[in-house]
Amino acid sequence: MTSNEKRKKIILIIEDEKDILFTLKDFLESEDYQVLIAENGFEAMQLLKTSGIPDLILLDMKMPVMNGWEFAIEFLDKHDHLSPIVVMTAAANAEQRAKDISAVGWVEKPFDLDVLLKTIKKYEKK
Ligand SMILES: [Mg+2]
Repeated sequence: MTSNEKRKKIILIIEDEKDILFTLKDFLESEDYQVLIAENGFEAMQLLKTSGIPDLILLDMKMPVMNGWEFAIEFLDKHDHLSPIVVMTAAANAEQRAKDISAVGWVEKPFDLDVLLKTIKKYEKK
Protein backbone atom coordinates (compact mmCIF):
# COMPACT_ATOMS: atom_id res chain seq x y z
CA MET A 1 0.00 0.00 0.00
CA THR A 2 1.38 3.40 -0.92
CA SER A 3 0.93 6.38 1.33
CA ASN A 4 -1.52 7.82 -1.19
CA GLU A 5 -3.93 4.95 -0.75
CA LYS A 6 -6.61 5.54 1.80
CA ARG A 7 -6.76 3.06 4.62
CA LYS A 8 -9.83 0.87 4.65
CA LYS A 9 -12.62 1.97 6.94
CA ILE A 10 -13.22 -0.46 9.78
CA ILE A 11 -16.73 -1.72 10.54
CA LEU A 12 -17.47 -3.78 13.65
CA ILE A 13 -20.53 -6.03 13.28
CA ILE A 14 -22.07 -7.33 16.52
CA GLU A 15 -24.74 -9.91 15.71
CA ASP A 16 -25.60 -13.30 17.20
CA GLU A 17 -27.26 -14.77 14.09
CA LYS A 18 -24.36 -16.24 12.16
CA ASP A 19 -26.07 -16.22 8.76
CA ILE A 20 -26.68 -12.48 9.06
CA LEU A 21 -23.21 -11.89 10.52
CA PHE A 22 -21.36 -13.63 7.69
CA THR A 23 -23.63 -12.28 4.94
CA LEU A 24 -22.87 -8.76 6.15
CA LYS A 25 -19.17 -9.48 6.57
CA ASP A 26 -18.85 -10.80 2.99
CA PHE A 27 -20.89 -7.94 1.61
CA LEU A 28 -18.94 -5.20 3.39
CA GLU A 29 -15.59 -6.79 2.50
CA SER A 30 -16.71 -6.74 -1.15
CA GLU A 31 -17.34 -3.01 -0.65
CA ASP A 32 -13.72 -2.64 0.49
CA TYR A 33 -14.27 -2.32 4.23
CA GLN A 34 -12.17 -4.00 6.86
CA VAL A 35 -14.67 -5.98 8.92
CA LEU A 36 -14.46 -7.06 12.55
CA ILE A 37 -17.08 -9.44 13.94
CA ALA A 38 -18.41 -10.35 17.36
CA GLU A 39 -21.35 -12.57 18.29
CA ASN A 40 -22.40 -10.58 21.35
CA GLY A 41 -21.54 -7.41 23.22
CA PHE A 42 -19.08 -9.10 25.55
CA GLU A 43 -17.08 -10.52 22.66
CA ALA A 44 -17.09 -7.07 21.08
CA MET A 45 -15.77 -5.40 24.25
CA GLN A 46 -12.96 -7.98 24.40
CA LEU A 47 -12.14 -7.39 20.74
CA LEU A 48 -12.06 -3.61 21.19
CA LYS A 49 -9.25 -3.95 23.73
CA THR A 50 -6.88 -4.80 20.88
CA SER A 51 -8.60 -3.82 17.63
CA GLY A 52 -8.60 -0.06 17.92
CA ILE A 53 -11.69 2.03 17.45
CA PRO A 54 -13.93 1.18 14.44
CA ASP A 55 -15.24 3.79 12.02
CA LEU A 56 -18.75 2.48 12.62
CA ILE A 57 -20.44 -0.22 14.70
CA LEU A 58 -23.44 -2.23 13.43
CA LEU A 59 -25.23 -3.41 16.55
CA ASP A 60 -27.88 -6.10 16.91
CA MET A 61 -29.99 -5.60 20.04
CA LYS A 62 -31.19 -9.06 21.07
CA MET A 63 -28.16 -11.22 21.79
CA PRO A 64 -27.12 -13.68 24.51
CA VAL A 65 -24.39 -12.93 27.08
CA MET A 66 -24.39 -9.15 26.54
CA ASN A 67 -27.18 -7.58 24.48
CA GLY A 68 -27.14 -4.36 22.47
CA TRP A 69 -28.41 -2.15 25.29
CA GLU A 70 -25.77 -3.45 27.70
CA PHE A 71 -23.04 -3.15 25.10
CA ALA A 72 -23.99 0.46 24.31
CA ILE A 73 -23.85 1.47 27.98
CA GLU A 74 -20.44 -0.10 28.44
CA PHE A 75 -19.06 1.18 25.12
CA LEU A 76 -20.20 4.75 25.72
CA ASP A 77 -18.82 4.60 29.24
CA LYS A 78 -15.39 3.43 28.07
CA HIS A 79 -15.11 5.05 24.65
CA ASP A 80 -17.62 7.91 24.77
CA HIS A 81 -18.92 8.48 21.22
CA LEU A 82 -15.71 7.58 19.39
CA SER A 83 -17.53 5.21 17.02
CA PRO A 84 -20.96 5.94 15.59
CA ILE A 85 -23.40 3.11 16.35
CA VAL A 86 -26.11 1.98 13.92
CA VAL A 87 -28.75 -0.30 15.41
CA MET A 88 -29.97 -3.34 13.46
CA THR A 89 -33.35 -4.43 14.70
CA ALA A 90 -36.49 -6.20 13.54
CA ALA A 91 -38.58 -4.14 15.91
CA ALA A 92 -41.19 -1.68 14.71
CA ASN A 93 -39.71 0.78 17.22
CA ALA A 94 -36.25 0.84 15.66
CA GLU A 95 -36.02 4.62 15.86
CA GLN A 96 -36.83 4.57 19.58
CA ARG A 97 -34.26 1.84 20.22
CA ALA A 98 -31.63 3.91 18.46
CA LYS A 99 -32.51 6.91 20.62
CA ASP A 100 -32.46 4.79 23.78
CA ILE A 101 -28.78 4.00 23.30
CA SER A 102 -27.70 7.27 21.61
CA ALA A 103 -27.13 5.50 18.28
CA VAL A 104 -26.74 7.73 15.24
CA GLY A 105 -29.04 5.63 13.09
CA TRP A 106 -30.81 2.36 12.54
CA VAL A 107 -31.66 -0.22 9.89
CA GLU A 108 -34.74 -2.39 10.15
CA LYS A 109 -34.42 -6.12 9.64
CA PRO A 110 -34.83 -7.70 7.21
CA PHE A 111 -32.69 -5.07 5.52
CA ASP A 112 -31.85 -4.28 1.99
CA LEU A 113 -28.06 -4.29 1.50
CA ASP A 114 -28.19 -1.09 -0.56
CA VAL A 115 -30.06 0.70 2.21
CA LEU A 116 -27.60 -0.67 4.73
CA LEU A 117 -24.63 0.54 2.69
CA LYS A 118 -26.13 4.01 2.28
CA THR A 119 -26.72 4.17 6.03
CA ILE A 120 -23.13 3.15 6.73
CA LYS A 121 -21.73 5.74 4.29
CA LYS A 122 -23.91 8.43 5.84
CA TYR A 123 -22.71 7.81 9.39
CA GLU A 124 -19.19 6.32 9.16
CA LYS A 125 -16.38 8.48 10.49
CA LYS A 126 -15.16 10.78 7.75
MG1 LIG B 1 -30.07 -11.17 17.72
